[in-house]
Amino acid sequence: MLHVGLTGGIGSGKSSVARRLAELGAVVVDADQVARDVVAKGEPALAAVVERFGPRVLRPDGELDRPALGRVVFADPEALRALEGITHPAVWERTARLREEAAGAGAAVLVHDMPLLVEKQMSPEYHLVVVVDTPVETRVRRLVEHRGMPEEDARARMRSQADDEARRAAADVVLDNDGTPQELVEQVDRLWRERLAPFAENLRTGARSRRPDHVTLDLDPDWQLDGPRLAARVKHALGDQAVRVDHIGSTAVPGLEAKDVIDLQVGVRTLSEADRPDFLAALDRAGYPRVQGVDRDRPKGSEPWLKRLHGGSDPGQVVHVHVREVDSPGWVWALRFRDWLRSDPAAREDYAAFKRGILTDETRREDYPQAKEPWFDEADDRARAWAERTAWSPGERGAGAPETGS
Ligand code: ADP
Repeated sequence: MLHVGLTGGIGSGKSSVARRLAELGAVVVDADQVARDVVAKGEPALAAVVERFGPRVLRPDGELDRPALGRVVFADPEALRALEGITHPAVWERTARLREEAAGAGAAVLVHDMPLLVEKQMSPEYHLVVVVDTPVETRVRRLVEHRGMPEEDARARMRSQADDEARRAAADVVLDNDGTPQELVEQVDRLWRERLAPFAENLRTGARSRRPDHVTLDLDPDWQLDGPRLAARVKHALGDQAVRVDHIGSTAVPGLEAKDVIDLQVGVRTLSEADRPDFLAALDRAGYPRVQGVDRDRPKGSEPWLKRLHGGSDPGQVVHVHVREVDSPGWVWALRFRDWLRSDPAAREDYAAFKRGILTDETRREDYPQAKEPWFDEADDRARAWAERTAWSPGERGAGAPETGS
C-alpha cells in the first residue's frame, strides 16, 4: 500500500485535497479526527486524562472539556508533557490500526492528512509527501470568509506553524492552491493519475521507475532538497542496517547539469548484510526494489568494486540507490568525487562541458554511463590530488541526518 503524507498550513486547502483523494479511491486517515477520537467518551485515554487532571476537564455530559483542559496545560510544560504521554501513544496506536485495516481491506493508497507533519519531522515515514501551498494572504481571506475565523486568530495559528519554505523542503509534490477550487481538483486528479496510482501499482508489483530512453541534461535547484529528503527516507526505512545514506552523483553538486536522477549511496558494514531478507524487505516496502544483475561498479582499478543497486518506484522521480560497504574504494570514490566537484567550479564546468559533448549525438540510456568513463579516469587523479591537498575525509555527513544542502 502506498503511504502518502498530506499537509499544508491552516486554510491552505488540505481538507479539500483529502476529500478529492478519497473520491478517487484513497483511504484517508484524518490526524485531527484521530486525536479527537482517542479521547472520546468511553476511551481509555480519556479515563487516564481524568485520572491525571481531575474531573474539572470533563463536561457535565462526560465528554472532554477541551477549553478547560487547554487552560490546565497552557503555560505548564510539565502538565502538557503528561497529557502528551497519554494521548500520543493512543494516537499512534489508532493510526497504526487504521492503516492495517486499510491494508487488510486491499486499499492501494492510504493518505495521512497530518497538519503537523513538517513540525514533527515525519516526512521520512511516507512514500510521498504532498504539500498544499497557498499564499498566507489567500489563506487568511478564505478562513475569515468561509470559516468565520477572526483574522487575528488565523494569523496567530499560522505563526505557530512551520513556514512555507520548510514545508516545501519536506514535499515531494507541491499543489498550488492560489487558483479556483476547480483548478485544485484538476491538479489532484492529475497527481492521482500520473503519480499516486502508478506508484501504488509499482509497489504492488515490485517495479522500479526508469528514466527515458533518451538522455537529456537538466539543472534543477530542487535537487538539493530532493536528495537529502530521499536519503532521510531510505535511512528511516533501513534504520541501523544502514551506517549512513548520502546524496551522491551529479544532482548532489549544486550548479552541475545532470540527468534527472537522484543517486543515493547506502553505506553498509558488509554487502552480505545487504543481501539479508530483512534488508531487502525494508527497501521493498519503502519502494526501492533491488535491481537484479548488477553487482559491481565499472572497475576503476584491478580489484572489482562490488555493490548492490536498488531503484525507486516513484514514477515522478527516478532514484538509483547504490549500496556499498563503508570505507570501500567505491564508497569513498563517490563521496570524494561529489565533494571535489562541489568545491571546485572549474572542475564542475569541465565535467558539464564533457557531458554536453557526449550528448550531442543520440546518446541512449544504456550508453551514457560508459561514455562518461574517460572523463572519470582522467579526473580521478585531480580529485585525489584535491583530497590530499585539503586533507579531505568522508566525514560524518549523511549519518542519517539530512544534509543541510551544501
Ligand atoms: P485546510 O484543511 O488546509 O485548513 P480547507 O480545505 O478547509 O483548508 O480550505 C480552507 C477554506 O478555503 C475552506 O472553506 C475551503 O472551502 C476554501 N477553499 C479551499 N480551496 C479554495 C480555492 N481554491 N478557492 C476558494 N476557496 C477555497
